[in-house]
Amino acid sequence: MVEKALLLDLDELSEKYKEFIQFYTDESGEPIYRKSLGQMIEDQRNSLNVDWEHLYNFNSEFREIAEDIIIHPSAHMKAGSAALKDLVSDLLGDLVREDRYRIYSKGRFHLRFYNIPTKASLRDVTKFSIGRLVEIGGIITRVSAIYDKLVRAVFVCTNPECGRIESVDIIGGKFRPPERCPECNSPMRFDHELSEFVRWRSVRIQERPEDLPPGMMPEHIDGVLLDDLVDEVKPGDRVKVTGIIRIKPARGEERGSEGPIYRRYLEVIHADVPNRIYEKLEITPEDEEDIWKLASKDGLEELIVKSIAPSIFGWIEVKRAIAYALFGGSTKFLLDGSKVRGEINILMVGDPGVAKSQLLKYTSQLAPRGLYTTGKGSTAAGLTAAVVRDSTIGGWTLEAGALVLADRGVACIDEFDKMNEDDRRSIHEAMEQQTISIAKAGIVATLNARTTIIAAANPKKGRYDDYVSIAENINLPPTILSRFDLVFIMKDRPRPEADNMVAEHILITRMGRNPEAKPPIDPPLLKKYIAYARQNIDPILTEGAARKIKEFYIEMRKPSVSSEEEREPTFETIAITPRQLEALIRLSEARARMHLRKEVTEEDAERSIQLVKIMLEGASYDVVSGMLDITGLMTGVSFPAVKRRELVFQMIRDLAEESEDGTVDRELVVKKAAEKLNLEHKEYVIEDILRKLNEDGLIIFPPGGKIRLLEG
Ligand code: ADP
Ligand code: MG
Repeated sequence: MVEKALLLDLDELSEKYKEFIQFYTDESGEPIYRKSLGQMIEDQRNSLNVDWEHLYNFNSEFREIAEDIIIHPSAHMKAGSAALKDLVSDLLGDLVREDRYRIYSKGRFHLRFYNIPTKASLRDVTKFSIGRLVEIGGIITRVSAIYDKLVRAVFVCTNPECGRIESVDIIGGKFRPPERCPECNSPMRFDHELSEFVRWRSVRIQERPEDLPPGMMPEHIDGVLLDDLVDEVKPGDRVKVTGIIRIKPARGEERGSEGPIYRRYLEVIHADVPNRIYEKLEITPEDEEDIWKLASKDGLEELIVKSIAPSIFGWIEVKRAIAYALFGGSTKFLLDGSKVRGEINILMVGDPGVAKSQLLKYTSQLAPRGLYTTGKGSTAAGLTAAVVRDSTIGGWTLEAGALVLADRGVACIDEFDKMNEDDRRSIHEAMEQQTISIAKAGIVATLNARTTIIAAANPKKGRYDDYVSIAENINLPPTILSRFDLVFIMKDRPRPEADNMVAEHILITRMGRNPEAKPPIDPPLLKKYIAYARQNIDPILTEGAARKIKEFYIEMRKPSVSSEEEREPTFETIAITPRQLEALIRLSEARARMHLRKEVTEEDAERSIQLVKIMLEGASYDVVSGMLDITGLMTGVSFPAVKRRELVFQMIRDLAEESEDGTVDRELVVKKAAEKLNLEHKEYVIEDILRKLNEDGLIIFPPGGKIRLLEG
């Protein structure tokens, strides 16, 4: 049962392919396929890739052959493989007597066609006939383990006198084992060692997030990879695959039986993993001209900032930070082989209803390779990756989460604090090393997650509490918090003047009469501009910029040194840490890249410093003491807060020593502590501290408004 190819039978077709491989030359007269055949043998590989257009343009006869490939792909694969096998034997000649070449030349060979004219979108695959060859683009989300697929079953007669061998080629899924030996009528036994298997792996190819029509669920199709192709792809890869449309019974996961319902899959014959390509965004020479014209505009930065979610009023510095993150800094590879990420991570923490979600959604549309998701993620893999059971693909499969899918792109993650426990453990690696390692159920893999993260989180008590640190405000450990370059606190506090403006802005925008709600830069152009800058511009730090950053760094660390005499030495305030230094470099690079400049100027450094200062004022300003402090961000407890707590505790101890029964009057403690800390009218801060001391098991509250120390 061999499929009939157009006009020619398989042997004739095979001869044609030999002719093509040997004699095709490109424009400069290079016999490119003869050369790659030589290389294939040298590397002992088994596949030769053929550009379909080359076949089509070889000569008039090949035009028909090429057209027929689309309709009868299996026959052509077979003929092509036979041709390749013959050529390999011919070329090896006497060398075949050597062991390694003998085994190699007896292996399977594949002529793999790519760049075919039938390009389908994942949504359209169902419109093509079964058996057709199509090319689709997508992203690999799941990968099964490698299995062996039986392609030739061999049976041996169980009668030792007879020993007859029968072999059956497996075409399609099913085959009939010979029950009795045709010679002596004894039972036959399936022989594993004599039978032939190929490596088999199933993958899930899903629509790329950026191709997804807004609000739609991504479509997917399973693909089967055979033989040497099984090693080609991993989750998160953006691929272009060429494959034959096949069907198999849709085994109802719940029914476990076969019905008349079938599901399509692709038997992949070629897989291309284009690397640094923003495949959807073609930048034409005209676009390039527009991009450079835009770059030379006065006030470019403000134009870009204003083009981010223009319907949202205010939050200019947050938008600026997002703009910098969209461009990103340069990734550096150090001499010792380690890597410093260039991607900028931003977190917005804030009250409900301050437009965090809106900002994220808008950003995900604007970013090349942007993706919007929530901390819970849209699949079992969540934000990072997971090993899950999949009955359609088979057994345990590795599934990529949002950060892997947005590799080399921007992941906008809402409700970041709601991520699952597995993600909480693996996100540290993802945010700094930009890889995700997984080892579970026999699957061991490291996936790339070179992803810019723009995230939003809500305070756990509903509203942001000024009197505790950021880490205490949200449900995230400081280890994760510290991996954000910038953390913005977005508070919704009534301010009549601003409220008036926001209301005005929202109302006239809704009425369609707000000129400011229109982005000054057309979003498609801005998207291309960002993609172009990210691909082509890699700014380097100049001496001047480096000096500025260093000066700021030293200046910011100073207060902790100079104030030592005034305060107990244990309570130093550290305003800024080395992580912020790296963040500053990234931000400065991003600003240079935004201007399509190859050098990071002093101005870039100054602007980034300004942004960090504004961020620090919001994020680390200790409202109670008025001191700038970032340790709260890093350790979860801000230093002035620690100091206050120590002081209150010490006060209770002193008072308890003086008292007769060891208890202290609660009101008295609150009053005295508030006086000492200049917190009159803010007594609730002290109450808060008392509550925490109680939670930590250091004090208890006996009846009668008392406090007693729990010592021991
Ligand atoms: P969050 O995610 O912070 O809880 P949302 O993004 O859901 O908030 O915003 C709530 C609504 O309020 C949205 O419709 C948003 O457009 C509107 N809104 C809030 N702040 C602003 C603002 N500064 N300008 C315009 N609209 C705003
Ligand atoms: Mg929200």
